[in-house]
Amino acid sequence: MKYDYDLVVIGGGAAGLVAATGGAALGAKTALIEKNKLGGDCTWYGCVPSKTLLKSAQIISLFKRSADFGIKGPAKGSYDVSGVMPHVRKIRNKVSAHHPPEVFEKRGIKVIFGAPEFIDNKTVKVNKSKITSKRFIICTGSRPLVPSIDGLMETGYFTNETIFDLDTLPKSIAVLGGGPIGIELAQALNRLGVEVSIIEMMDRILFREDKEAASALSKVLIKEGIKIFTGKKAVKFAKDERGIVISLEDKDRVLSSIRAEKALIAIGRAPSLEGLALENAGVRTNKKGVGVNEFLQTSKNNIYACGDIAGPYQFSHMAEYQAIIALGNALFPFKRKVDYSSVPWCTFTDPELAHLGLTEEEAKKQYSGVKVYKSSYAANDRAVTDIEENGFAKVVCDRRGRILGAHIVGSQAGELLHEYVLAKSMKLGLGKLASPIHIYPTLAQIVKRTGEAPLTEILASKWFSRFSKLMLKLLR
Ligand SMILES: Cc1cc2nc3c(=O)[nH]c(=O)nc-3n(C[C@H](O)[C@H](O)[C@H](O)COP(=O)(O)OP(=O)(O)OC[C@H]3O[C@@H](n4cnc5c(N)ncnc54)[C@H](O)[C@@H]3O)c2cc1C
Repeated sequence: MKYDYDLVVIGGGAAGLVAATGGAALGAKTALIEKNKLGGDCTWYGCVPSKTLLKSAQIISLFKRSADFGIKGPAKGSYDVSGVMPHVRKIRNKVSAHHPPEVFEKRGIKVIFGAPEFIDNKTVKVNKSKITSKRFIICTGSRPLVPSIDGLMETGYFTNETIFDLDTLPKSIAVLGGGPIGIELAQALNRLGVEVSIIEMMDRILFREDKEAASALSKVLIKEGIKIFTGKKAVKFAKDERGIVISLEDKDRVLSSIRAEKALIAIGRAPSLEGLALENAGVRTNKKGVGVNEFLQTSKNNIYACGDIAGPYQFSHMAEYQAIIALGNALFPFKRKVDYSSVPWCTFTDPELAHLGLTEEEAKKQYSGVKVYKSSYAANDRAVTDIEENGFAKVVCDRRGRILGAHIVGSQAGELLHEYVLAKSMKLGLGKLASPIHIYPTLAQIVKRTGEAPLTEILASKWFSRFSKLMLKLLR
């Protein structure tokens, strides 16, 4: 059978743009079908606007701390933040200008705007035309998960898809969900003058993070004035003349309530599967999205999936990593498995919280003889000059000194983590990070110090002291 395309990619976000670009570069006749705008969640409602908002919020925080640097700043409360959201949207447009459809057309990709529907595993219908392809890669991403809570629809709410359209910030906001999305937006809004409450069902915020690291960040947020309600589930929303009243229930079913002008829902993600009619193609789906094997292949051999729709990690860098694997596997007979042993991520609060591999708690459940090495920001000269002394790097190793996980809470943690990412993925022991020369004064020396920790341990041991003394005696 002759097909219209060698490859059709559905969804033009972080995963789809990489898959389509790679497909065309490898010589496959490629089409990209997008139902909305190219760029996906990351550009329009995710990474880009949230990081822009966090940066503006950090500037306010620096203004407030200006006396720490010997500078008299503007009087407290005299900041006009009305330009912040327009600024966020301006930056978003600037980033999106990197990927207009023409850029991809020039790369030889046929860009089609429309909502495709599978007819069978080789055919989709889009804009009333049928398109056939030998292979498909589904990259339709995710959208905010909105819980069905009594009164929520009537009171109204924001999600990450609507919050950046605001022009005037509310006086107060209740953020439902203490995961990375909720926490980043909570800190940014709080620093911009909004009274923020976070409601989290689990007994702590950022429950996927190392407990000690998450607790350090939580303390900063509380100190900045954010109210954090953990172990509490929102069970009812009601509206009165002053805003929204949210009823909370704890694990013993004891009720309490909080009040806020607006609510932001950030409890998780739902897969974007609507309208695809994947059942016609024989592709199995589940609550989280499209089921894939370790080759990112769906239940239908010629259809692959990657990015948020495939999971299990929902990050732009994961979408890009998976897109490259899915593309290779879709086009060629030799298949590559995904490797999730060294997945890094970062919550871009201030301080940042960066995560690689196992937490201390997870490592201790899986391994015996786990060792933990730490180095504090307070002991680093650059952190002192920059007044960024709050934080630490913590490395979790097996008994032989191999890195199982690394967690940094502090300034530029997301940048610093990459040395550990490289070491872990190259299967280097932590001690290897002690040898290379690191520039002084940089925060990167915090990483070097953790690398020195296992060596310091050896130098401080009794057997080494005896050995060293004996050697020196012999050499006298
Ligand atoms: C507030 C927020 C902040 C975030 N910050 C970060 C961060 O700092 N770092 C990070 O790594 N990740 C971050 N993420 C996660 C990141 O945005 C996602 O993991 C990433 O966008 C997933 O890429 P994707 O290609 O799978 O999906 P998307 O980028 O969402 O792309 C999916 C595309 O498919 C299109 N589509 C959907 N359905 C169809 C259909 N039926 N037909 C055709 N097209 C369709 C959509 O319109 C969209 O363009 C953040 C997310 C949020 C919500």
